Amino acid sequence: MNAPLPAAALDRAARQREIVAALAPVVPAHALLWQAEDTVPYECDGLTAYRQQPLVVVLPETEGQVAAVLKACHALMVPVVARGAGTGLSGGALPHALGVTLSLAKFNKILKVDATSRTATVQCGVRNLAISEAAAPHGLYYAPDPSSQIACTIGGNVAENSGGVHCLKYGLTLHNVLRVRGFTVEGEAVEFGSLALDTPGLDLLPVVVGSEGMLAVTTEVTVKLVPKPQLARCIMASFDDIRKAGDAVAAVIAAGIIPAGLEMMDKPMTAAVEDFVHAGYDLDAEAILLCESDGTPEEVAEEIGRMLDVLAGAGATRMEVSKDEAQRLKFWSGRKNAFPATNDPDQLHRCELFGADILETSVRLGGTVTGEHGVGVEKLNSMCVQFTPGEREQMFALKAAFDPAGLLNPGKVIPTLQRCAEYGRMHVSKGLLPFPGLERF
Ligand SMILES: Cc1cc2nc3c(=O)[nH]c(=O)nc-3n(C[C@H](O)[C@H](O)[C@H](O)COP(=O)(O)OP(=O)(O)OC[C@H]3O[C@@H](n4cnc5c(N)ncnc54)[C@H](O)[C@@H]3O)c2cc1C
Repeated sequence: MNAPLPAAALDRAARQREIVAALAPVVPAHALLWQAEDTVPYECDGLTAYRQQPLVVVLPETEGQVAAVLKACHALMVPVVARGAGTGLSGGALPHALGVTLSLAKFNKILKVDATSRTATVQCGVRNLAISEAAAPHGLYYAPDPSSQIACTIGGNVAENSGGVHCLKYGLTLHNVLRVRGFTVEGEAVEFGSLALDTPGLDLLPVVVGSEGMLAVTTEVTVKLVPKPQLARCIMASFDDIRKAGDAVAAVIAAGIIPAGLEMMDKPMTAAVEDFVHAGYDLDAEAILLCESDGTPEEVAEEIGRMLDVLAGAGATRMEVSKDEAQRLKFWSGRKNAFPATNDPDQLHRCELFGADILETSVRLGGTVTGEHGVGVEKLNSMCVQFTPGEREQMFALKAAFDPAGLLNPGKVIPTLQRCAEYGRMHVSKGLLPFPGLERF
């Protein structure tokens, strides 16, 4: 005989039945998943150390269905977590234990590529790379290129304000998106930005870009396209000291050069990826810089020459310029395939502490905790360090203006006062209480 289920499991099952009953009339049967074996693939994003099975997963196919799902969830006060491709690395799409995961995977149509206005209008579930592929016949492409671009969706890019190697020159998602259409938590259609360069009324586009699914569910995005450069070449420069490589980055920028891409790999990372990609990385180097130029052949020749001078002056021990497109892509392939992974809980814990230390050092030096990858659940504690209680209250107030009941992606991005108080009490970095000047509670 089966043992009786505990009360919590019975409550969960009852809530699940209630939600399924409310959603069944508004989406087709195949778009509604609640059996454990169907929902388990949604239990995490790229931050696989955090897992939670959702109560229900729904895969709407039309905007009408998105609106109806949101309305039904709102009526039942059910948390909703939007999900693109699930490649996020900060737990942004981690399900809520008593919530609905709203997968936008079926919103995968390119609605329009307009070569004259150099824009593309696409559904939110279109993959980042698919936009550039659709624009390629017009000699255009979509510039922001997260390393996950083969899989991640534009809806996820908008939510995370994602970047990539080209963002130094061409900007982040925010700088390449004109208009976002979506739905509020109550299922009302809403638009941010416009097809023109300005917007009537308050420009809330920068508010929704980077809001990690907390303010609205995106269904459609209009992006800017840029002309494909005639040529791109990449310098691979070796350094015998990681600090010299860092200083070389500053020297390139100080020389007034904005490379099309500029990234660093340290020795352990280079060793880890070389076996896999065979890019010909210098395995003796303490650090490698990849430094790219794009434009007309004349512009590239001139800029590569200047960059070689600056890098040599900064102490590069070896430099190689890509001879053709295949070699350029090879240089980048290692950087694009570098992806940390561990299954050891102790190692994971130490990595998290070390990661927090890096973020806090970034804040101390004038940087931010959210370099591309969003806050999600991963960087909640670090938000306590970057922002004062007053600033976090303002963020909660903004969230409440869109979502008063806090149903969209709850528990992420903005840490509560209580969480920060706890973190402030517990957190000691390098034996010292961090930021002794900051107010503590
Ligand atoms: C190998 C690898 C390399 C990566 N490289 C980069 C990189 O170079 N630069 C970079 O910035 N990121 C990078 N990422 C992280 C990740 O790919 C990006 O954050 C990406 O934008 C996530 O898109 P997604 O569709 O997978 O979103 P998901 O992971 O599904 O969701 C991310 C967040 O967006 C929200 N969301 C998703 N879709 C919607 C929607 N339609 N409406 C509202 N909210 C939504 C979710 O709720 C969640 O908070 C990398 C990830 C991997 C695995």
